[in-house]
Amino acid sequence: MKKGKKLYEGKAKIIYASPQKNLVIQHFKDDATAFNNQKKAKIDGKGILNNRISEYILSNLNQVGIKNHLIKRINMREQLVKAVNIFPIEFIVRNIAAGSLCKNLGIEEGTTLERPLIEYCLKNDDLGDPMISREHILTFNWLNESTLDLITGECKRINDFLQGLFRGVGIKLVDFKVEFGKTSNDEVILADEISPDTCRLWDEKTEKKLDKDIFRKDLGNLIEGYQEVARRLNILHQQPVLKPISFPKPKEVKIKKK
Ligand code: UDP
Repeated sequence: MKKGKKLYEGKAKIIYASPQKNLVIQHFKDDATAFNNQKKAKIDGKGILNNRISEYILSNLNQVGIKNHLIKRINMREQLVKAVNIFPIEFIVRNIAAGSLCKNLGIEEGTTLERPLIEYCLKNDDLGDPMISREHILTFNWLNESTLDLITGECKRINDFLQGLFRGVGIKLVDFKVEFGKTSNDEVILADEISPDTCRLWDEKTEKKLDKDIFRKDLGNLIEGYQEVARRLNILHQQPVLKPISFPKPKEVKIKKK
């Protein structure tokens, strides 16, 4: 598919125009950033894994009726998606305390929350994506009440589905971030990505981190963590272990002289 001009470049993805009306191409980069862009690196292969994992999750969500922007993956790094106007809000869903929840409120990391907690953050890098309340969203008209209620409901459904999906492969879904947008038909749908860049994923038994915290906290090889997630979801092509082939020693061939 022929890529059109670059429409937008973010920290981890680029959006290009596509030849099809109302569709765009979402390209996954290898760039990793953390702490509001203060820590940066290029991690070979991260974009490929996120493209594949996000495709898998969004197509599964689609099958259970959670509308989203994914049309199809078109190559190792790109997806064809519906064009949306992204709302300026990040929706965070938490099942277990980690990250900013612990830092800001002094809750011990790993505390299981009695029920899923939804938080809203304003997408604004200059302000460091501050947490906002439902009242802020309505007061400043970032979303109207019915859209906010619809999205909050979708966040809970996404959480239920993802918790089950990951629990089935021995992974705890600690928390995640999602973004929503409006299509040209005024439909409100899930957009962006859902991947180990945007979720906290812990091994059920060892609580080993399999997500972007590996990069944030220098815990080791990020790609190995993301590959482990893909392998458990059965979407990583595993190379068969090839046994070395042993050839018999060639026999000496005597050529008769004429
Ligand atoms: N998250 C994200 N993008 C952001 C902020 C958070 O994908 O800009 C994800 C993050 O990976 C985690 C969840 O949202 O899975 C909650 O993040 P938190 O508020 O704890 O922020 P952090 O401490 O990670 O900055």
